[in-house]
Amino acid sequence: MLPPFELSQPQTLPEALRALAEDGGQPLAGGTNLFPDLRSGREKGDQFVSLALVEGLRYIKHTEQRITLGSGTTMSDIVHDPKMETAAPALAAAAKIFAGTMVRTAATIGGNVCCGSPSADTVPPLLTLAADVTLSSASGERTVPLDEFYTDYKKTVMKPDELLTSVSWAPPAPGSAHLFYKLARRKGDAITVTGVSVMIAADAGKCTTARVALGSVAPTVFRAHEAEDLLVGQALTPDLIEQAAKAAAHQCSPIDDIRATADYRLQTAHALTRRLITQAWKQVA
Ligand SMILES: Cc1cc2nc3c(=O)[nH]c(=O)nc-3n(C[C@H](O)[C@H](O)[C@H](O)COP(=O)(O)OP(=O)(O)OC[C@H]3O[C@@H](n4cnc5c(N)ncnc54)[C@H](O)[C@@H]3O)c2cc1C
Repeated sequence: MLPPFELSQPQTLPEALRALAEDGGQPLAGGTNLFPDLRSGREKGDQFVSLALVEGLRYIKHTEQRITLGSGTTMSDIVHDPKMETAAPALAAAAKIFAGTMVRTAATIGGNVCCGSPSADTVPPLLTLAADVTLSSASGERTVPLDEFYTDYKKTVMKPDELLTSVSWAPPAPGSAHLFYKLARRKGDAITVTGVSVMIAADAGKCTTARVALGSVAPTVFRAHEAEDLLVGQALTPDLIEQAAKAAAHQCSPIDDIRATADYRLQTAHALTRRLITQAWKQVA
């Protein structure tokens, strides 16, 4: 059973921000994390600010310079946006195998990014897009690179009176490859054991952009910067890709849990990083 809680239902963003600043509640978006956590007792909050009726948070905007998702955009919205296949191929791939239809219809991108889970599936693709998040409060707005958003397990730089209002990124370079692989017991409705996303672009036979992000293998999803640095400016050979995969695995600090051992996560992080960079290089070269 759900414990009792108070719920405010603002209809505009200023009202929502005022409720967060003055009443100290916690945002409630699709509730697909919050309700199971409340039911199980993992979540102790008793005051929530529903974002369901807040106008202007659910949209997808494509311009030549930027793609922007309002924080209320659901996984189904991403799946059904035909431009997402080119604007963010790995994000589109992650949304397609996210949970099952019912959860995809309610789960928002804002909730997935803000829950801070290392297994949040949209985060590796967003990190390899070098996405920014916009955080709004009653006193203003700031933009933070997603790469600087997480500070520790389920901890972020967001203040209690802030809402994540949008996520945005520059369109991938023409001809680049953007991939995501979710290793889990099933493709849908299963928590990720190891998640890897890569973005690779090339020009004249050399790698011009390399971004690698890993999920479920550390307290937060993270960019494997050392691996990326090995690749940029080089023609990618199997040896170099192996070195980069090793560097990415070196940055992992996985745990044992009911889904997998730490050792399995480490080995699969290494193998999947190597496989995805290899696939991406074949696509762009
Ligand atoms: C059956 C099932 C299957 C699932 N499968 C997957 C899966 O395959 N992949 C995956 O990654 N996740 C999965 N999840 C987890 C969950 O669905 C996602 O993390 C989802 O994106 C959370 O979004 P939400 O809108 O439901 O967030 P909520 O549950 O409403 O909120 C989650 C957290 O984010 C905060 N929050 C929400 N929106 C904002 C905002 N705009 N600004 C600031 N804080 C905010 C809330 O306060 C809360 O702390 C699954 C959950 C269930 C129940």
